[in-house]
Amino acid sequence: MTNTQVKCLTDDCGRPGAIKGRCKSHHWSWYRKQETDDPDRQCQVQECRRVRVAKGRCHTHYTNWKHQRQRQAGKAALILEGRTH
Ligand SMILES: [Zn+2]
Ligand SMILES: [Zn+2]
Repeated sequence: MTNTQVKCLTDDCGRPGAIKGRCKSHHWSWYRKQETDDPDRQCQVQECRRVRVAKGRCHTHYTNWKHQRQRQAGKAALILEGRTH
């Protein structure tokens, strides 16, 4: 018998600590709030110090950026549609 089953560090969770001692969902909520002084891991938005998760941005700024892109894509599609009339 091995006794290596680690439980999530978050109190009252009880799920297995799959990533660095935390379950998946708690790992992500923890990770998203992390700040770093390492410019290679930092969000590229100037005043933001959180770790990047995608496209050089932290979770918040990546989500903002994604929504902005979707809006722009929507506008572009409208303009294109307008031109075909
Ligand atoms: Zn957990
Ligand atoms: Zn950021």
